[in-house]
Amino acid sequence: MFESDGVRVRALPMKRALKWAAVGVLLLLIAAGSVWYSAFGNNSAIVDGQQLVPGVETVKDGFVSVFVLDAGPRQVALIDAGNDASGKAILAALARRGLTAGSVAAIFLTHGHGDHTAACKLFPDAQVYALESEVALIGDAIKVTHPLKDGDASDVGDLHVETFAVPGHTPGSAVYLARGVLFFGDSAGASKDGAMMKAVRLFSKDSGQDVASLKALAARLQPRSPEITTLAFAHTGPLVGFQPLATFASSH
Ligand SMILES: [Zn+2]
Ligand SMILES: [Zn+2]
Repeated sequence: MFESDGVRVRALPMKRALKWAAVGVLLLLIAAGSVWYSAFGNNSAIVDGQQLVPGVETVKDGFVSVFVLDAGPRQVALIDAGNDASGKAILAALARRGLTAGSVAAIFLTHGHGDHTAACKLFPDAQVYALESEVALIGDAIKVTHPLKDGDASDVGDLHVETFAVPGHTPGSAVYLARGVLFFGDSAGASKDGAMMKAVRLFSKDSGQDVASLKALAARLQPRSPEITTLAFAHTGPLVGFQPLATFASSH
């Protein structure tokens, strides 16, 4: 009796400590959950295999998109190279149209984060394009064979790609315009209710600079707005037309 009481008295502080530890873990989980939700919870969904316009297909590689762009007979270009070093989703998309890794003639990197460059080395024949100012961040992920400057235009087969510098998410983040689609990488996203959102602050070098870059891009492309049919993002689904970018620019 005495002994068991003694045990209970000694056990109590331990139980209390465990209880507080459990509460601590729970609070951490709630905090992590709310950070996750504020970063991603309102994102529109990525749909694997979605054709954005003729000649531009979305590949869903886990939580990130890769885009496959037709670039002539039996050759394609990629916008980014995904998060999966084995390139499973990209290779499957190529296989669906009877293509192989050797069919990828070019990769245009929106920026150097690892969730966009992982499969680069699977495509031995690909020329690699990125803004010159991003080459350092891309590092060993892949050698950039074509360092770009803002305003450059590149041709790969019958594909024409224009490059716009949008520093902010990373110092050398690029937006590409090809086949009437603007590819933003991580510099913007789409909410479930169809609005364009700025880069996720948590993962961005300079969120204020990102907004300024997007506003400048909107002003610059306004005269060409009729030719822009789609806005494509790396971590969300797409938006239709130029208007969401114009609305973003006027409301920030
Ligand atoms: Zn990123
Ligand atoms: Zn990313």
